[in-house]
Formats: sequence, structure tokens, C-alpha cells
Amino acid sequence: MRWSQTFIPTLRNDPADAEAASHKLMVRAGLIRQLGAGIYSYLPIGWRIAKKAEAIVREEMDAIGAQEFYLPALHPAEVWKESGRWDAIGGEMFRFKDRKDAEMCLGMTCEEIFTVLARDGLSSYKQLPQIWYQIQCKFRDEPRPKSGVLRGRQFTMKDSYSFDVDAAGLDVAFDKHAVAYKKIFDRCGIDSIPVEASSGAMGGSESVEFMAQSSAGEDWIARCKKCDYSANVERAVSALAPVEDAPDDAAIEKFPTPGIRTIKDLVTFEGGAAADRQIKTLVMMKRGEEGETPVLLLIQGDDELNEVGAIDAVGAALRPAHEEEIVKALGAKPGSLGAVGVKDIPVFADKRLKGRVGMTTGANHDDHHVRHVSMERDITVTKWADLRLVRDGEPCVKCGAPLDLKKAIEIGHIFKLGLRYSESMGASVTDQNGKPVPLVMGSYGIGIDRIVAAAIEAHHDDKGIKWPLSLAPYAVVVSPIKMNDEAQTKAGEELYAALQAEGIEVVYDDRNDRPGAKFKDHELVGIPYRVVPGRGLADGLVELYDRRADEKADVPLADVVAELKKRLSA
Ligand code: ATP
Ligand code: MG
Repeated sequence: MRWSQTFIPTLRNDPADAEAASHKLMVRAGLIRQLGAGIYSYLPIGWRIAKKAEAIVREEMDAIGAQEFYLPALHPAEVWKESGRWDAIGGEMFRFKDRKDAEMCLGMTCEEIFTVLARDGLSSYKQLPQIWYQIQCKFRDEPRPKSGVLRGRQFTMKDSYSFDVDAAGLDVAFDKHAVAYKKIFDRCGIDSIPVEASSGAMGGSESVEFMAQSSAGEDWIARCKKCDYSANVERAVSALAPVEDAPDDAAIEKFPTPGIRTIKDLVTFEGGAAADRQIKTLVMMKRGEEGETPVLLLIQGDDELNEVGAIDAVGAALRPAHEEEIVKALGAKPGSLGAVGVKDIPVFADKRLKGRVGMTTGANHDDHHVRHVSMERDITVTKWADLRLVRDGEPCVKCGAPLDLKKAIEIGHIFKLGLRYSESMGASVTDQNGKPVPLVMGSYGIGIDRIVAAAIEAHHDDKGIKWPLSLAPYAVVVSPIKMNDEAQTKAGEELYAALQAEGIEVVYDDRNDRPGAKFKDHELVGIPYRVVPGRGLADGLVELYDRRADEKADVPLADVVAELKKRLSA
């Protein structure tokens, strides 16, 4: 390719609304352009890169015996109704009606569609195991589309699905994916961290997310500094030492706390209590078959609620209750709430509160609290659960070493679905004994766009992107200093031809611009090697620049192709 004929619209300045480095650089380097909120066009250079990521994913999926499909992104509502997700999913799904007034949606994931194919096409255990996948557009009306393609409303995902006759088969498919994912991310130059993740309200037994540590991430992960423990903070627990309460078997005592609304207020209030001796009571509404009902969540006063932990514990979607709902449930406004004596509302308490005595909490009477509360004696706990967020430095549950909390990008997710779809949609096969059994399924996703963006997050500097060879749009740019110097352009053309003949992806920068401006473009776009025929030609030398090492060397013109071949195959 000759640069003069390419469309690589580089920009000198960052786009106004961008925060993530990958977002800024993808726009500035001419990889993408925004069309609307969370909607991006990939320009030629960006698409070359995305296709490389896609090819790596495809190779590794094929290597574990997965078979590629191409499924529609346009789905009739019926199939989503069969699984129950038409109603379970909220605003994230793009829904509309066709000209015949039939309900439709745009695919946000493909469990239902693959389950239909499995239901119709698989009838015996002899056909199993199967791993099916596609690389396709997904649509999600994300509430906060941001960070460029990291969270788009249309994006490309490789999603695969495994079908087995039993749980042991699912374990094999799951482990194969875990190995393939590690290889994919390694090949893309991304240091991936597999972390325990929540299975969410949908159930399922095991779920692992692949994370890339980055300040641009929207997830937090807790990672042990010593052992291999790592978990999404939504799932993380720690071995924090219990708070020691002084013995207290005094009867509950209600006391007035005028104007005291927060844990902090009560710490400084005379006759109040330290934050770790208070119980924080949160009222949430649980979505169930018969509509919304309140639940109480209790955590230690100085802890933060882990919302996903709460959803896992309750086993249903939750939202914070409005003030009227709270008053209706407990008879008091936020600031004076507690669970003492509550009988008709389910109470979920954090494990840290187990056995605690002499605690202080709201009295369910505005401007009043109660003290001398004993958890076991005074509160009817429906379920003890992990409801608090771990904090940086807390001891690891496995080995006691400090946990490190870091922001991360979720780049992949593997998930044991079990019978979730096969039972609701009636997909079964006959087993070894001729008995029908529901298919045991797994589902596995990787965001192609997120691979591209996460690779940039991991490999850039103030000049631009530093592509790993595997994703680089071109491996080499040949760029004479002066386009009106015959010796330089002759060497340039010859090098361009010689590198192409070697099958090396090369672009010849034949633009009549200042070399400084051209070099800035190469560095912004992140082409790994640049060969510059310049003044050194008089001595038979060209300059070879290594973008990733940011190093220049003079190399004999006669050797530079061989030198590049060596570096590119290293
Ligand atoms: P998140 O928690 O970030 O919203 P998710 O849990 O919804 O992600 P999955 O449904 O597990 O994601 O999708 C599988 C993969 O698809 C993710 O690991 C990610 O790489 C990619 N992905 C999901 N949502 C988006 C999006 N809005 N834009 C780009 N890629 C996405
Ligand atoms: Mg999501």
C-alpha cells in the first residue's frame, strides 16, 4: 500500500469527549469515527487490526474443535420468550416491531438461537460434545456507552456455546475455553487475568472473567499479592479479622437521635457508636413472580454494600427502594432504619455481623436508634451472605497476604450455564441408557473491539500506539526523508517491493510532506518498524526505527530486509 492512496485520517488533537487512552488514540490514529453514542465506524486501518484480532480468536477456537456458524442478528421475540429472557432483560435490549406488527429484537447474545439449533439438530449423546461459535455483531442499549469501542451499543463478539450430555463434559469444554482464551490474549499482547466472577441472577455454577488491568476499565478486581487468588470485587471476599465486641447482654434500649441520619453522624453523636459497631440497614426491592417485594440488607456500619453479592444472595434482581416504599415497609424514613423485630420482610445479613453484640442501629422510628442489639437474639436473619465490598490491602482468603485492588477491562467471560436454557427451551438428547436428558451447556464470550482497545491500553506512549506484531496494521513502513531525492525514492521503492515479495505487510509512505509530520503519523498509528532511506545512503546505510523499543539503528541497505525478516519472526 502507498500511504498517499490510503485513508488514514490522523488527528493532532484528542477528541473532546474521550477519557480512555485507547479511545483517544483510536480516533486520533484514524482507526474509528463515532457515528452516535456507542456507535462507531471502523476505518480501513482500524478494520485491518480488528480482523487480525478476529483471526487469532478464530484460529484458537478452531484449535479446540469449535465450529463456526453465522447466525442472524435479527431475532423474532418468540425465541426469547421461550427462555423467559424477553421479560427478564430490561432496557439493554433493542426491541421493535416489524411491518406485520410482530415483536423483534436485535441480538445481544445468542444462547436462545443456538439452543434452538441444538434442540432441532442434536438427538443423541453420540453426537456430543459439540462446540459452536460465531463472530458477529451484538447490540446492547448500554446505559452509559463510553470509552469508545470498549463499551459500544453495537460491537463484535465471538460467542461460543458447548453442548454436553453431563457436567463432566461441560467441565472439559469450559477448561478448553479457559486455555484457548489465555492463548488468544497472549497472542494479542494482553496480560489476561482470569478472575472468579458472579453468575448473577441467571444462575449457573461457575463463571470466570478474563480481565486486563487498566485504568480505563469499569470493573475492579481483587488480586492476592502472593497466591493465585483473584476475583472480581463483585465476588471477592477477604479474611478480615472479626471485630471484637465487649460482652453485652443488656436489653435493647431505644434512644432519641434528633437529626442524625448517617453512620458518620452517629459516630460523633453523644451516646452514639463507632462505625464498626453500627449496623447499616438497606432496603431493596426484589423483582419476583408476584411483582416487587422489599428485602433488608444488613452490613457493618463502615462497610460498603456489594450489590452483585446481594443479588447473588437474594437470587433475584434488586433495586434500591424509594422513600415511600421504605416508609411502608418499616414505618420510618432512611436514617432511622433497622431490622430489630422485623418478621415479615426477608433479612440478608453480612457474615461479618454474625454473633455480634452491643450493636447500634436504627429503631424504625424517625429520629430514634436502638443500642445493645445482639444479632442472634434480636434480629431474625433469613440468610447470612457475603454482602460487603473488600478493600485494598485486606488479607487474602486463601493465604492471608494483602489483596491488591485494581481497575480492569473485562475482555472475555466463560460461563457454565448448566441446564438454564435446555430446560426452559426443551433441548434434550438421549443418554447412554436411551433416556432423554437436557443438554448441559456453557457459554463463552470475547469482545473483539475490547481486544483491540485493551491492547492499546497496554501498549502506548505519548506518541501513540505501539502495536504488538500480531495486531499491527502493517509491520513496516518505508519512508524516504525526501520524496524529491532520486536515490532515496529508488531505495524506497526497491525496499517496498522486496518486503512485499517476502510477504511482509508494508506500507510505502510516498507523501510529499515534511518527514517530521510523516514520522509522527507512523508513531501515532503504531507501525512496529520504519525503514528510512536518507542521507546515510551515501554510505550504503538506512535508518531502522523500532517503534516499541523506541530505538534507531543504522543498518546496511543490503541487509535491512533480512534484518526485518529476523525481527518479525522472532
Ligand atoms: P460488562 O460487564 O462489561 O457489561 P458483560 O458481562 O455484559 O460485560 P458478556 O455478556 O459476558 O459481557 O459479553 C462477553 C464479552 O463481550 C465481554 O467479555 C466483552 O469482551 C464483550 N462486551 C460486552 N459488552 C460489550 C460492549 N458494550 N461493548 C464492547 N464489548 C462488549
Ligand atoms: Mg454488560
